[in-house]
Amino acid sequence: MAVDSILSSPLGPPACEKDAKKLQYIEEMTRNADAVQENVLAEILSRNSHTEYLKRFNLGGATDRETFKSKIPIVTYEDLQPLIQRIANGDRSPILSAHPVTEFLTSSGTSAGERKLMPTIKEELDRRQLLYSLLMPVMNLYVKGLNKGKGLYFLFVKSETKTPGGLLARPVLTSYYKSDHFKTRPYDPYNVYTSPNEAILCADSFQSMYTQMLCGLYEREQVLRVGAVFASGLIRAIRFLQLNWPQLTQDIQTGSLNSKVTDPAIRECMTRYFRPDPELAESIAKECAKENWEGIITRIWPNTKYLDVIVTGAMAQYIPTLDYYSGGLPLACTMYASSECYFGLNLNPMCKPSAVSYTIMPNMAYFEFLPHEPNLVGVTSPPKLVDLVDVEIGKEYELVITTYAGLYRYRVGDILRVTGFHNSAPQFHFVRRKNVLLSIDSDKTDEAELQTAVENASLLLREFNTSVVEYTSYADTKTIPGHYVIYWELLIKDLSNSPSNEVLNQCCLAMEESLNSVYRQGRVADNSIGPLEIRVVKNGTFEELMDYAISRGASINQYKVPRCVSFTPIMELLDSRVISTHFSPSAPRWNLQRRR
Ligand code: AMP
Repeated sequence: MAVDSILSSPLGPPACEKDAKKLQYIEEMTRNADAVQENVLAEILSRNSHTEYLKRFNLGGATDRETFKSKIPIVTYEDLQPLIQRIANGDRSPILSAHPVTEFLTSSGTSAGERKLMPTIKEELDRRQLLYSLLMPVMNLYVKGLNKGKGLYFLFVKSETKTPGGLLARPVLTSYYKSDHFKTRPYDPYNVYTSPNEAILCADSFQSMYTQMLCGLYEREQVLRVGAVFASGLIRAIRFLQLNWPQLTQDIQTGSLNSKVTDPAIRECMTRYFRPDPELAESIAKECAKENWEGIITRIWPNTKYLDVIVTGAMAQYIPTLDYYSGGLPLACTMYASSECYFGLNLNPMCKPSAVSYTIMPNMAYFEFLPHEPNLVGVTSPPKLVDLVDVEIGKEYELVITTYAGLYRYRVGDILRVTGFHNSAPQFHFVRRKNVLLSIDSDKTDEAELQTAVENASLLLREFNTSVVEYTSYADTKTIPGHYVIYWELLIKDLSNSPSNEVLNQCCLAMEESLNSVYRQGRVADNSIGPLEIRVVKNGTFEELMDYAISRGASINQYKVPRCVSFTPIMELLDSRVISTHFSPSAPRWNLQRRR
């Protein structure tokens, strides 16, 4: 159908009739954001009024905002953990949600070192699907002709466990890719992937990646966009190509499939790709064999218009690497979501990463905003939460959600800044996640976890009469995969019995053993994080660091050693004082079955 005969949208001319409906839907939701929010809250409260949790607070059947805000407390995961544990243990009574909990989504956020378990209900899949369905209609406004080719997306499922009560516990994307919503999605010419479902659904990450890469190479001319969920995932895929291109091009040359790919479903589906194509193999091999991999993405996939990866928040550290590999292709951050709830989308996805703002879709959950004013120390009056349409441009807030699945006034831990409005729905810049010091992939290590890890590792130094007098850390993303670097200044009391290289290597491992399970899974199962490194610096280095901070205006009285650094002059100072470097000699323990 011709574009001009289609309903037009204030966002721009839709690419097709289906897109027109989706864009109109965005308009409706954002124009009526407040009314939609009021209805969402009323629906959540009325359907869940008989849950054990809501009964505690005597709402008396009220579903209005005022009663809700005056009676329901603001909570964190730790407050709900005992109730969540009962559900995990098999209690099927309506504890948080009136609808049966169908599974647990394992967040990359941790509590007491283990992934948080988010109960979810069947219909949440529809809500997630709905948000996904809005992404391409928006993208089609900015990039034309995406129906003329395919997307090379590296998508993976991860291992799943069962809770003691028999419910599945797995990451939200694993749940989504394994659902019929994804597996039997209707054909959409604007959203065709090169990766077959069989490859995406293979739990073995090598076989899955190998096949997805092979299909992407076979269809190199058709590829119009390249993506992964997070930037770190796309960089891992490039690294995989670097390591495996000889075998991949050999397969293309001979029309066969590497014998390391044993998954029967993959082998079966790949028969439709098998065709010897020596010319294609040779041209790919020629590019890969070059020493310089700058611009490799567009050299291998010459028609790529943009990279579809999240580079906001902790992922911003990967922007220079992606720019290098892609020759500066646009980076599209399309959505903002979590295991608890999907939040919203970027209505201007081709903007610069620093300008990305997400528009929260008011029908996904009931949203409140806790003013984030770190400078207001000592204010004792309880914070007043602000409604979605009442947030103010320029201010920062912590996101608080009430979901259909049974989280009420739950602090997500994300800090957002309001940048503007689309109709009456605010748009947010993702500022940061609270309390995250180090992150390479989906791992999030906070200051307390790092402190405990340093303490545990330094126990190994006791017999050498040595202690760690100061430390700081750095997420080194120049290596692939990235890794944690911890700078240590040591006090060695007996130089004739100082800790050996081997002992300090063991300290690296001891630190890794102490870090949370998401970190250890990244190290062991996903290979998305490299071995932890300790760099021992000369005595007096941290004093120099303080002098430097003071010379730049820090107050002597208030100076605290930064537990994480990234500012180049500081890194240069630290690195110029390194006397030895040490790496974890083996992978830490990671046990999939470990559930509280
Ligand atoms: P998880 O619960 O493991 O799914 O992680 C969800 C968290 O990932 C969110 O609360 C954010 O902190 C982060 N996140 C998700 N989407 C984005 C995004 N587009 N930009 C920045 N951070 C994001």
